Amino acid sequence: MSSETLPATSITPTTAAAPVAARAAEIASDASAPNVVFDVRDLNVFYGAFKAVRDVNLSVHKHEITAFIGPSGCGKSTVLRCFDRMNDLIESARVEGQVLYHGVDLYDPRIDPVEVRKRIGMVFQKPNPFPKSIYDNIAFGPKISGSKENLDDVVEKALRQAALWDEVKDRLKKSAMGLSGGQQQRLCIARAIAVEPEVILMDEPCSALDPIATARIEDLMQELKSEYTILIVTHNMQQAARVSDRTAFFTTEVNPESDTRTGMLVEFDSTNTIFSAPSDERTENYVTGRFG
Ligand code: ADP
Repeated sequence: MSSETLPATSITPTTAAAPVAARAAEIASDASAPNVVFDVRDLNVFYGAFKAVRDVNLSVHKHEITAFIGPSGCGKSTVLRCFDRMNDLIESARVEGQVLYHGVDLYDPRIDPVEVRKRIGMVFQKPNPFPKSIYDNIAFGPKISGSKENLDDVVEKALRQAALWDEVKDRLKKSAMGLSGGQQQRLCIARAIAVEPEVILMDEPCSALDPIATARIEDLMQELKSEYTILIVTHNMQQAARVSDRTAFFTTEVNPESDTRTGMLVEFDSTNTIFSAPSDERTENYVTGRFG
């Protein structure tokens, strides 16, 4: 990811690191601070003139799994990409509102998106290992971020955390492309956690996997949440019900003047409430399968 692709407002990592890091340290030492990692306020995202998603307000809690569900096109991935400023890489995308990370607005012009993405890792729909060895996939991030730790230890720790170590420890120097799809996805999770982020964003991480590989990733998410905060976009409602602590249900509404559909957050609550006693009829229709 080169800095040319980032907007002109980004500044160098050394200066940009300060506000986020300082605030995160302040929060960590403040026992009275609520367990809120992100606070999203009045978020609207546009692609050119098209308003893709509007008026999103929600908070993401530490060591929880937060799921985004809703019909295709309702803005789940668009909103997820706001948490690590990945939308910056889409030329037409524009974000309004605030995404507060430990009280610091990630869209403050002083914040460097590269620094943001070190703290907030992402795992994509299709496993995307680098065409390198298993070892080099994991070592890549720590190397470029100048980690002083022993790389062998970093690689082993990340692979153990991603529940992949036992399957690959005898072939670390072999290509990652030889792994199965499920193993590749766990490798991508290991690669994301090797740089020790606080948050992992997952955009439909199981949609390319078979049910057994999916179950392994879901188990892994449960193990990882004691150390990380996880956000997951899933088109699979049962998956959200199985793995998440809180669920945000999005839908779309028609803009009569332009005949386009804008995404909106309908309801955000504990997963239990969303699936058993939602307060909005649209949520109920969706989770009971009457719509979508
Ligand atoms: P979901 O993840 O819920 O399926 P998305 O966030 O992918 O929804 O898309 C929300 C809306 O934004 C859709 O109307 C989609 O067509 C549009 N959209 C998504 N990505 C882009 C893009 N890069 N450029 C233009 N429009 C986009």
